[in-house]
Amino acid sequence: MPSDAAAGAGAPTFGEMLAAGGLLDDTSVVTRQIIAGASEAVAEHARTHLKVVSCDACTATKACCYLKTRAYLHEAAPIVARLRREGRDTPELRQTLKQAAHDMETVAKARHQRPCVFLGADERCTIYEDRPSACGTHFVSSPATECAGRTGNVTALCSTAHEQMPAQVEEQFVLRAGLRRLDRHYSGALPRMVLICLEAWDRRDYVTFLAERCLPAAHRFAQITR
Ligand code: SF4
Ligand code: SF4
Repeated sequence: MPSDAAAGAGAPTFGEMLAAGGLLDDTSVVTRQIIAGASEAVAEHARTHLKVVSCDACTATKACCYLKTRAYLHEAAPIVARLRREGRDTPELRQTLKQAAHDMETVAKARHQRPCVFLGADERCTIYEDRPSACGTHFVSSPATECAGRTGNVTALCSTAHEQMPAQVEEQFVLRAGLRRLDRHYSGALPRMVLICLEAWDRRDYVTFLAERCLPAAHRFAQITR
């Protein structure tokens, strides 16, 4: 695995390393499996407890896409691969990500009103197949109108069995990618992690770059979600 000293002209970039090792595909598949598993578990829980999963038929404004959202680095990577593939990595996007990340990291939870960068004008997620586990495992049984109203009457339906899985996947990702072990997970606010990942993609010194960027991002996100 590349180290700081080996990050010379012949060393792979972050994007090249992810593709060559199959790491990008592997982690992407695992995230999809976590989401599918959580969805099945929540559906079963709803059946057993005679509840509905409101998200299944939600046509309301996606208030859940205005929440502060966590993403792991291994979840940001497939998003970045998609943005690049679709020609969506523009200076304007990076600027929007930067502003959204700043808001998510500084504005109080109750006052955070900014829609996710990836929420389309039609209220659909523009990266749906690559959305992070925090999005794909968020379900409620209360009416969708309660989500938008932020009335405090939102009843979350969660699958505790799937809560720890993304962190476990991250540990394997860090190991396989040869990244530095930090005292935090490589995770933070969704727009921040996507931005860091975009910036790291073509870098050969990504080991140092990611460690230096992700540690403060993880600290900032932990502070604002407390
Ligand atoms: S969390 Fe609320 S707004 Fe989001 S999809 Fe579910 S019901 Fe709709
Ligand atoms: S990534 Fe998609 S599902 Fe998640 S908050 Fe953004 S728009 Fe919503």
